[in-house]
Amino acid sequence: MRAMSRGPFGWFRRLVGKDEFDCRDVLANCSDYVDEELSERDAEKFDAHVRDCPDCPPYVATFKATVRTLQDLEPKTAPPELRERIRAQIAAESDHPPAS
Ligand SMILES: [Zn+2]
Repeated sequence: MRAMSRGPFGWFRRLVGKDEFDCRDVLANCSDYVDEELSERDAEKFDAHVRDCPDCPPYVATFKATVRTLQDLEPKTAPPELRERIRAQIAAESDHPPAS
C-alpha cells in the first residue's frame, strides 16, 4: 500500500496540473475567467497565455463584451407598466365590496 502515500489524486493532479495554458485551456476557462471564478494560479496561467498568444486576445475581448452585453440586457426591476398592472390588480381585489 506504498502507492497510497502519493495520495489518491495524483492522477488528477497530473491531468490538470499543467504549468501553462494552451489555446484550448483558454477557451475552456474563458467563462470562469470573466466571472472571476478561476483560482489565482489558473488566472495567472490564463493571463500568461493570452499575453503571449496572437489568437486568444481577440477571442477573450469578444467573450468579455458578450458577457457584459448579456448582463446589461438583464432587467433589474420589473418594467413600470407591469408593476402598475399588478398594483391595479391588487387594488381591484382588495377594494372588492363584500358580498351581502
Ligand atoms: Zn492562445
